[in-house]
Amino acid sequence: MRKPFVAGNWKMHKTVAEARHLVSEMVPGLQAVSGIDRVLCPPFTTLLAVSALLAGTDIALGAQNMHWEIAGAFTGEVSPSMVAELCKYVIIGHSERRAYFGETDSTVNRKVQSALSHGIVPIVCVGETLQENEARLTEEVILRQIKEGLARIDITDGSTLVIAYEPIWAIGTGRAATAQGANTVIGGVVRSSIAELYGQEVAEAVRILYGGSVKAENAADFFLQSDIDGALVGGASLKAAEFIKIAQAAAQGYLAGQ
Ligand code: PEP
Repeated sequence: MRKPFVAGNWKMHKTVAEARHLVSEMVPGLQAVSGIDRVLCPPFTTLLAVSALLAGTDIALGAQNMHWEIAGAFTGEVSPSMVAELCKYVIIGHSERRAYFGETDSTVNRKVQSALSHGIVPIVCVGETLQENEARLTEEVILRQIKEGLARIDITDGSTLVIAYEPIWAIGTGRAATAQGANTVIGGVVRSSIAELYGQEVAEAVRILYGGSVKAENAADFFLQSDIDGALVGGASLKAAEFIKIAQAAAQGYLAGQ
């Protein structure tokens, strides 16, 4: 049985003071939810402050991006060793990074390789645009993103990798995928391609999340699906009560599946 996983992607929101306030509001409720992994991915500038507030809890920290090189003349970038000092996880290849910052399957591949070699668990994002979805290219696009994003990477332990299926048309739009539709893509395309690459045992252990307009009111539907192991949550992770309810729904979904 895979342990459910709920991560909050704060994107470019929250100053240090605001982050401290939000984390203080969230920690008691999140700590009370047991049996699932809970991860906060705030902006780089707030990681140190948030890590201090999470000390002594089992809520983990994630970064939203990183460079693949360990150090060097890469103005504005953050290295894997810097991320590894504070974070257990790093989001790689979020669709906003692909759309606005020129990330490709090839840069995703370098970043995933680098994260793994620094002991950071990558949360690799894949997903199709609305046009691709309407042209029935979802499977083709996701297979390409997975095969090229993970090319030449050897994975023998499924717990070292998390994948988030995030249809781009569902991110920040309020228009979530249906739970059944997301489950079909996650089980039939994402997990089966991981099985092809790394074998059934690894595929059964990799956590695969759904992301795209997950809220407290729709979260339970996703967590009751057989292949959806959790959620990558954007907007709703900026509201303490909402994010706690999503984590509670994940824990309940897990109990229901046992
Ligand atoms: C995201 O940013 O990964 C995301 C899923 O955003 P939202 O939940 O706001 O759609």
